[in-house]
Amino acid sequence: MINVTKTYLPPLDKYKNYLEKIWGNSWVTNRGPLVHELEQKLKEYLGIKNILFVSNGTIALQIAIKALDLEGEIITTPFSYVATTTSILWENCKPVFVDIEDKTFCIDSSKIESAISSKTSAILVTHVYGYPCDVEKIKQIADKHNIKVIYDAAHAFGTKYKGSSILNYGDISTLSFHATKLFHTIEGGGIVVNGNDELVKKVFLYHAFGHMDEDYFTVGINAKNCEFHAAMGLCNLPEVDTTIDLRKEIALLYDEHLLPLGLKRPVLNDKVEYNYAYYPIVFPNEALLLKIKNKLEENNINTRRYFYPSLNTLNYLDGSVCRVSEDISKRVLCLPFYHELNKSDVNSICKIIKTALS
Ligand SMILES: *Cc1c(COP(=O)(O)O)cnc(C)c1O
Repeated sequence: MINVTKTYLPPLDKYKNYLEKIWGNSWVTNRGPLVHELEQKLKEYLGIKNILFVSNGTIALQIAIKALDLEGEIITTPFSYVATTTSILWENCKPVFVDIEDKTFCIDSSKIESAISSKTSAILVTHVYGYPCDVEKIKQIADKHNIKVIYDAAHAFGTKYKGSSILNYGDISTLSFHATKLFHTIEGGGIVVNGNDELVKKVFLYHAFGHMDEDYFTVGINAKNCEFHAAMGLCNLPEVDTTIDLRKEIALLYDEHLLPLGLKRPVLNDKVEYNYAYYPIVFPNEALLLKIKNKLEENNINTRRYFYPSLNTLNYLDGSVCRVSEDISKRVLCLPFYHELNKSDVNSICKIIKTALS
């Protein structure tokens, strides 16, 4: 069976070395030495000033919303994983959906301003599949209206814009290190703060019960991660560059087969160094997508309708309309994509697609 993704697992001995360190230190959680080491190495690898290693990417979003004191309406994208929307709702704010661009599948920045009201406190948007949002335009709009920006960068680990990490944009960027992501710690996430020291401290306090030692400052939650997850991250981080190179080769092979069929892909801006996080492809209509998804399944090949449905249509929301997002989400399919995927498997996947389309 070929799955849509396959988690990178390091050689077992490498992980065992870290387990021996953990046993030696007798320190398993509460910001032990491996958590510190991982944060340090992530800062160096990504070229960012700070990062807090937390338990997952969803709590990272929730803490970001809380630390920026957001309330009222938050402008967001309908084309993302459901956690982007539910974190807003969980923090008692109202998501206001702005449609996406049909080129990058990220929020259409030209439509943001008309959605801003007196209640808008922030823009929270996703660098979808690792393709950056229009970060410069979004900063301009946020500055003009004095509102905050949070980037859900769960897909954007390693993506660079104009030579620097995409995580350096926004008041806060959040990451997910879930097992299905490009870089993972099994479960885990990160918070990158681009604000002042006060904001950095606030985020830190919120992630660990609101206190430091015996000084109690505020209400916090438990978003700490532990030594075992940090150890997985330390094993995986040195392999990320190789993983990205292998993924790039696979993406180019898919392109070679599929682009001549007239199928649509999100378009990369030439100022972007891409991380090859996913391989989404858009079919001419939903019926064809379903036909191809089923044909692939008959051959034990799993794909994922990522993202479907468009988040503005969730049944617990009041149903705004986002035509582009609704259209793309019905037609987009993520194909199997991981470092170990064989070229011959890519060839057979493409052959099945080609036959189904003809
Ligand atoms: C994976 C993901 C999340 C959630 O991250 P978890 O670590 O699974 O909580 C949030 N947003 C996006 C866009 C994601 O892909």
